[in-house]
Formats: sequence, structure tokens, C-alpha cells
Amino acid sequence: MAQDAAGYDYVIVGAGSAGCVLAERLTTSGRHRVLLLEAGGTDRRLFVQMPLGYGKLFHDPAVNWCYRTEPDPGLAGQADHWPRGKLLGGSSSINAMVWIRGHASDYDDWQAAGNPGWGWQDVLPAYRAIEDWEGGSDAFRGTGGPLHIGANRRDLHPLTHAYLRACAAAGLPETPDFNGAQQEGAGVYQLTVKGGRRMSAARAFLRPAMGRANLRVLTHAQATRVLFDGRRAIGVEYRHKGALHVAQAGREVILSGGAVNTPQLLMLSGVGPGAELAALGLPVLLANANVGATSATIRA
Ligand SMILES: Cc1cc2nc3c(=O)[nH]c(=O)nc-3n(C[C@H](O)[C@H](O)[C@H](O)COP(=O)(O)OP(=O)(O)OC[C@H]3O[C@@H](n4cnc5c(N)ncnc54)[C@H](O)[C@@H]3O)c2cc1C
Repeated sequence: MAQDAAGYDYVIVGAGSAGCVLAERLTTSGRHRVLLLEAGGTDRRLFVQMPLGYGKLFHDPAVNWCYRTEPDPGLAGQADHWPRGKLLGGSSSINAMVWIRGHASDYDDWQAAGNPGWGWQDVLPAYRAIEDWEGGSDAFRGTGGPLHIGANRRDLHPLTHAYLRACAAAGLPETPDFNGAQQEGAGVYQLTVKGGRRMSAARAFLRPAMGRANLRVLTHAQATRVLFDGRRAIGVEYRHKGALHVAQAGREVILSGGAVNTPQLLMLSGVGPGAELAALGLPVLLANANVGATSATIRA
């Protein structure tokens, strides 16, 4: 197994929505060396850059993990297709580009459930700071941030306007901004698109940081295991060009592989439901039944 000679302060697993932002923020000061591992390849592909290419990416294993669920009783036993991005930008490079930040009361509920810092008043400044909203800034929206959000108001099909009028006639009034003062209502989706090209997290955050000497981005590099010293994560084992390598992290290992892959990597590393891991011959470092569980099966 090859030892990555360069020492890093942070090793980030997964260059998706979260990983791209983290890589940018952690390298801004120039004080930290960061390795960003991405299992997929480049986002410089026509159907990734072109917003209408979205439909072409939905089943393309070149950029998509193309997961399949277990048969789902709620779907009369059918197995569903679960797309997840596998390239720079992660799912933000294959998603539908709709910009809806979520409802203020949901954030407040999360905070009330015991998560300080997750209330709406805590996260709103962060949202305003990353936004470059075409509609202009106000108490809810930001401008001048790295992530451009288009208002999507030009060249709408006449049927769109007719549909909105019909909604209003049926008692659902139009909202001018799903992310503004009035979230409820009918309206036109805002899109993370700029100049006719997809505004992924890679474009907004990672690409501007990629020229920094303290950031190394490795594509086609899949983390296979988090390495621990006791219970402290000290590095990552990853596969690149057919060989296994090890990268040490002096400060932190950050897992941003997405909702499916992050728990999987934890389980491969010995963190997860003990009996299940042991049955698969995996070492059990920390038994925790909630790793990999669905919200329906999580235990408090
Ligand atoms: C088809 C589709 C349409 C969507 N539409 C919308 C939308 O319109 N609006 C919206 O707000 N949201 C949408 N979403 C959801 C949104 O894109 C995701 O919630 C978000 O991108 C998830 O970010 P993440 O950082 O958690 O993971 P991801 O962005 O998925 O990033 C995870 C990254 O980690 C990499 N990775 C995983 N495991 C490893 C490993 N072991 N080693 C190295 N790298 C690894 C993956 O390849 C991937 O690049 C959509 C998602 C999909 C798939």
C-alpha cells in the first residue's frame, strides 16, 4: 500500500455539494493543506454543463452511481432507481438545479430537536452569503456570493402564466419568491444556472479554489476505509489507478460522500450496526445501529 508522501491537515472524501464548499473554505486562508478525494471524474462534460442535459445524466453510469433500492413495500414491492452524482460537483452536477432552501420552520424544528446552530436565524446569514440572487438582495436573499441563482423569468411559455392564473383562481396565490418572505404559493422555479450553463457546487466553489497550491483534488480516487488511531480518525485509505494508497490527516477526516456513500464508508471502516458488520467479516470499531439506518428505523 502506497503512503501518500504529502501530509495533509484535512482529507475530504467526496467532491459533491458539501465537499466543494468545504474544500474552498478550508483552503481560503492558505494555512491548511487539503486533499479532496472524488470517486468520479471531471464535470467538464457537455450534458453536465448544459442545463437541458439533465435528462441524459439520470441513468448514465459515467457520472451517476445509479443505485437501486431494495423492493419497497410502499411501491407495491418495486425497486426504485436512486440517482446520485459521481463526478466533481457530485449530485449538484447532475441535479435538476431547482433552488429552494427549505422552510424556515423546518430549521427551527431541527434546532428544537436538540441541534443548536440549525435554527432559521442561524442558517439564514449563511444562505444570504453564498447567494448571488438575480432578483436582488433583501432581508431574505443575498447578492454577490459565489452561487448564482437565476430568476428564470425570461421566455416562459404562455402556458406557465395561464397555469399560475389558474392556481390563483383556485385559491393558491402566486408567490414572487419561494425563498423569500412568502414561501407558500404557486410560482416559477429559480434555477442554479448562469449564462446558459449549470451552476454546480464545483463551478461555484471548487473551480475557483483549484488553482490554490494548498488544495489537491484527486479524481477517480475512491476512499475504501477511514483509518483510526483508537477512536480518532487519522487518515483515509483510497483506491486510485488500481492501487491502494493512504493519506494522513493531521487535523480532520471529513466525510462528504453523500447520504448513501458516507454511511457505507463508515460501515466499511467498522462504525455501524455491530452484528451486521461482524456477519460480513468487518471489524467492529464502534457499534452504532443508527449508521446506515433510515429515518423510520433510527433509535434515539
Ligand atoms: C437527479 C437528482 C436531481 C436533484 N434535483 C435537485 C434540485 O433540483 N434541487 C435541489 O436542491 N436538490 C436536488 N437534488 C439533491 C441535491 O443535488 C443533493 O441533495 C446534494 O447535491 C447532496 O449533496 P452532498 O454533498 O450530500 O452529496 P453529493 O453532492 O451527492 O456528493 C457526494 C460526492 O462524494 C463522492 N463519493 C461518494 N463516495 C465516495 C468515496 N468512497 N470516495 C470518494 N468519493 C466518494 C460522490 O461520487 C459524489 O461526487 C437532486 C439530486 C439528484 C440525484
